[in-house]
Amino acid sequence: MLELYLNNPSDLVLREAKALPPIAEDEVKLKIVYGGICGSDLKVYKGLISYAAYPLRPGHEVLGKIIEAGKNVPHKVGARVVVFPNTFCGTCEYCAQGKTNICTLKQPIGVSSDGVFAQEVIIESKYIVPVPDGIDDERAVLIEPFAVTVHALKKANIQKGNSVAIVGCGTEGLFSVALANKFGANITVIDINPTKLAIARRLGENVRTVHPKDIKDELFDVVIEAAGVPESIEQSMNIVKPGGTIVAIGITCDPVNYPALKIVRSEVTIYGSIIYTLKDFAEAIEYLKDSTFDLSPVLSKIVPYTEFHQAFEDALSGNFAKIALKF
Ligand SMILES: [Zn+2]
Ligand SMILES: [Zn+2]
Repeated sequence: MLELYLNNPSDLVLREAKALPPIAEDEVKLKIVYGGICGSDLKVYKGLISYAAYPLRPGHEVLGKIIEAGKNVPHKVGARVVVFPNTFCGTCEYCAQGKTNICTLKQPIGVSSDGVFAQEVIIESKYIVPVPDGIDDERAVLIEPFAVTVHALKKANIQKGNSVAIVGCGTEGLFSVALANKFGANITVIDINPTKLAIARRLGENVRTVHPKDIKDELFDVVIEAAGVPESIEQSMNIVKPGGTIVAIGITCDPVNYPALKIVRSEVTIYGSIIYTLKDFAEAIEYLKDSTFDLSPVLSKIVPYTEFHQAFEDALSGNFAKIALKF
């Protein structure tokens, strides 16, 4: 059984894994089918996440098939499932409110513990979600990253005809384009990368794309900040209408200038949004059941997992949207 393993930042190898132990009553063994490479995998790969626990096995966006199930597991052998890759305690103040995404004991797998980029993995069954038959494998591997967008866009309550600016065309920005388009918004996508802007235009009928420098005095009802660099966060606060809403998905550790005068006097609402809950997974699956809702432009390519090195470098190049490994 082979696994990807990150000995240290940039030192990613394919190696023979230790034999898996017998599964417990509440665990399943999965054969991994596809694994999506996420921005956070790239940050772990590059050594940009301070709490990443090297050495570790990366990966968290996977579709797998159950090949063994413990006796207390409610799912059958053969079921296709995706992994819910952020553990939660279920008992803290936030979990008690259903906000498992901000659980004080949350652990992102593939960052602070071993992830799932391997031929086979064992996982607690509470962290797997069955995929309905109507969603094929290539759509199913998008459920986890798309759930991030579902969680975020709900906060803005986007209505038909709203002007929505989406800042940043990474995976979450691109998914935001598709979902805001489904809500009937008038969408402006802002990014410096023409390749990504071209992908954004394929996600809706009426998607306008611009370089950040080409936004002058225009203001938007809703701004989705999905770039996570200081300039884009500052631009997001500048381009929101009085009374408007910003949803912040992008993350940076760098300082950002906060326009207190505008935020207060214009009654701007800023929501932070981090990952998802199981409810968001269920909603993401509902959206994906609709075959006319096309997210396929976001999946740039699928490559054999043995070509992981090129796949990670391609993902870093900025010339692709999502890249998935086929295990
Ligand atoms: Zn991810
Ligand atoms: Zn908790």
